[in-house]
This record gives sequence, C-alpha cells and structure tokens, in this order.
Amino acid sequence: MKLGLFGGSFDPVHLGHLLVAQAACEEFGLDRLCFIPAAQSPFKPGSNPAPTKARLQMLRLALAGQPHYEVDPQEITRGGVSYTIDTVRDYRRRFPSARLFWLIGADHVAKLPQWRDAENLASSVEFLVIPRPGEPSVPFPAPFQGQMLKGFPLGVSSSQIRARVKARLPVELLTGPAVAEAIRANNLYL
Ligand code: ATP
Repeated sequence: MKLGLFGGSFDPVHLGHLLVAQAACEEFGLDRLCFIPAAQSPFKPGSNPAPTKARLQMLRLALAGQPHYEVDPQEITRGGVSYTIDTVRDYRRRFPSARLFWLIGADHVAKLPQWRDAENLASSVEFLVIPRPGEPSVPFPAPFQGQMLKGFPLGVSSSQIRARVKARLPVELLTGPAVAEAIRANNLYL
C-alpha cells in the first residue's frame, strides 16, 4: 500500500493544498492520503492559529465526499508542538509494510535537516515535493530523498487568505465555498 501523509497548519485549507493532494494521488498512485493538521508547527513558534476545532472542521468540509482522503487529528489530540517524526513513527507502527510518502511544499526542502530526529525521519519516509510558484527547486539535502511532483503549481497560501479575510475581500475561489462559509460562521481571521 502507498500511503500519503500531508502535514501542515491548514489555517485554512485552500485550493493549493487540494491540488497538491490530487497531484500526489495521480502521479504516485497513492491508495490513501491523510491530512494531518499540526497542533503547533515547530516552524511557526509565535503563531496563534485558528482554534483546532475550526481547522479540523474546514478540512472535513474541504475533503467531503472524497473517499481517498481522510483527516487524521492525531497531532491535535497529542497537543503541544507537532513533530513529524512522532507522527511518522505512529504510521510506521500501524502500517509496517506500507510505503509512506510525506508531502511538503518546495519551501520546506532546504530546511529538512533541521527537522527533529532528521536521520530517522529520512529513513522512514519518502518525500514528495510540491512545486510552489516563487520557490526555487533545490536538491534534497543528504540524507533526505524524494521526488518532485509536477503539480498543478498554484501561488496561493493560507496567510494570503487570512489577509484577504481581514481586508474583507472574497476568498471563496481560493478555499471553495464550504470553507469560506465556515470562516464566516466562525468569525475567523478578522
Ligand atoms: P501559511 O501561509 O500560513 O504559512 P501555507 O499556505 O504554507 O500556510 P500550510 O498549512 O503551512 O499552508 O502548508 C502545509 C504544506 O502544504 C506545506 O508543506 C506547504 O509547503 C504546502 N503548501 C501550502 N500551499 C501550497 C501551494 N500553494 N503549493 C504547494 N505547496 C503548498
């Protein structure tokens, strides 16, 4: 089995994330793709993300009706700073014979050696990199290995969406209508 793991803040989930998921499934024939929202990203220490309940709700709305995709709340359940290696160990234990793929945006490749327990992480998963407009494609730093997806590269980010909501600009086309409605209903990002 080929199992894709996609971690992030998803604050909020947007079309860029969904296109990444689609590209990974199509190009690598993933059987299943788990979206794993972080409780607190180690790389965004000062950030104050939207409540976990709202981020989970938005992910579930965005992925509704797509049987290959699921939302795994384990990092939120664990709480604290979310380290990828802890999540990967959990999947390795539950799916000992699966091929595990960890999806990351091109903006994260150069910093992989700074991830916790980097050596172990590098030998536990294969990385799939998603091109991100404006991000140069850099080689994997040793001992990390992985492959590049073709995409659909899309220059949209959660921070851009939060800024648009704050400026009272529409975000429906960037998030899809259900997520945009959840942002409104929960008064997020104002
Ligand atoms: P923020 O703007 O708040 O930093 P973000 O849009 O980068 O957020 P995250 O939830 O932090 O979203 O991203 C989760 C993962 O998805 C990361 O690996 C990130 O690089 C990747 N990603 C996010 N948006 C895109 C995009 N448009 N294209 C490719 N990869 C993306």
